[in-house]
Amino acid sequence: MNRAQTTEDLARRAEEIRNRAIEFRLEEAKEWGEEIERRGDIPDGLQPRLKELGFLGLTQPQWAGGEGLPLKLYFPILEEISRCHGSIRMMCHAFNSIWRTIGRGREEQQREWLPAIARGEKLVAFALTEPEAGTGIDLKTTATKENGRFVLRGRKHLITFANRADVFAVIAKTDSELGRYGLTAFLVPKGQPGMEIEEMPEMMGDRGCDHAVITFDECAVPENAVLGEVGQGFDVAVRGFLDQSRACIAQSAVGIAQESLERAVSHARRRKTFGKPIASRQAVQMRLAEMDISVQAGRLLCLDAAEKFDSGEDVAREAARAKAYAIQMVGEVTDGALSIFGGVGYISGSPVERLYRDARSLWFEEGTAEMQKMTIAERLLAEARRRERQNLR
Ligand SMILES: Cc1cc2nc3c(=O)[nH]c(=O)nc-3n(C[C@H](O)[C@H](O)[C@H](O)COP(=O)(O)OP(=O)(O)OC[C@H]3O[C@@H](n4cnc5c(N)ncnc54)[C@H](O)[C@@H]3O)c2cc1C
Repeated sequence: MNRAQTTEDLARRAEEIRNRAIEFRLEEAKEWGEEIERRGDIPDGLQPRLKELGFLGLTQPQWAGGEGLPLKLYFPILEEISRCHGSIRMMCHAFNSIWRTIGRGREEQQREWLPAIARGEKLVAFALTEPEAGTGIDLKTTATKENGRFVLRGRKHLITFANRADVFAVIAKTDSELGRYGLTAFLVPKGQPGMEIEEMPEMMGDRGCDHAVITFDECAVPENAVLGEVGQGFDVAVRGFLDQSRACIAQSAVGIAQESLERAVSHARRRKTFGKPIASRQAVQMRLAEMDISVQAGRLLCLDAAEKFDSGEDVAREAARAKAYAIQMVGEVTDGALSIFGGVGYISGSPVERLYRDARSLWFEEGTAEMQKMTIAERLLAEARRRERQNLR
């Protein structure tokens, strides 16, 4: 396939794909979404269809067969896809984002996995969160070097697409004395002896996505399963993957919010009470206007993070800002849409009811609002200390 070479080519290519995503949203997504909601799982045909449409290979490097889109060009496409259904959004996000953990790996690891991920054929899952540890890096899963191999012991939970994934980026503690420098990332293929996957109960939203508990019981992996270097697990997980992924989650919130807003506007125009469409009432207009302002504010915070990421800057603070704001925003906007729909919005299966449920998973994926605010505060305080040391204001 011919790949876009210049910036203008890339922008044109991204626009083409975005138009395809809009067409998919308007013509096909409803049917897929209804089937997912009815079955409670993802139909076999969905992944091949998303692959065929080119939605699973948008961000991976061109050498691996991906489109190589920068975040700034990927985000408008992600927004359209996020408007479709939680599971469709999650599948596109998993293919287009988690590969970045492997992007921090050795060349052989990248060559082995990235082309198949970019083709939409192999999926990598990210395994950080644990049942016995809180948010953050106080992990209990350990990896101990024994006889030239690393032996993993511990449990992960809430791992999205664990059943569907072919390989896992697993973060474990290799040195309990070194804090974040004592964490290491491992690339563990599915079926590794000593690794067991157990499906978790269905979630509130994103129906169809599977999540699992993964137990590592004396699970030995070769030394070359390490992603990056020993002690670089925090860098692989947070700087390599989570920072940009937080901005992706924020952009997904923008998509869900935009869909909710448009549905609320069209319902308000149709629904008449006391002889007039509710859209003619100022109270309803104010609410719609506030929803519109906050969706656009979220979009601009995402764009800020995207532009900085694309130019190679550290985006911990920008991505955390975008995510902290966007999850609060999508909470308010989906709530607003539900209110404007009135009682019919609350019926199971109503479009705004599903958007309201799907939006809630974004509060947790890649860290809660508190975690984002802790990152922002950490940066603010570090900057203040630096200025003080330099005797600046
Ligand atoms: C749909 C979904 C998909 C997910 N997919 C994955 C995945 O693929 N891979 C993966 O590794 N994880 C995944 N997760 C887990 C997700 O990243 C975590 O749920 C999230 O980071 C919160 O961590 P926790 O659940 O351990 O909450 P906890 O750490 O138990 O936190 C509970 C509450 O306490 C607050 N809190 C905790 N510590 C502090 C503190 N120090 N100061 C202030 N407040 C605090 C939190 O903000 C939160 O509100 C997924 C979760 C969901 C819901």
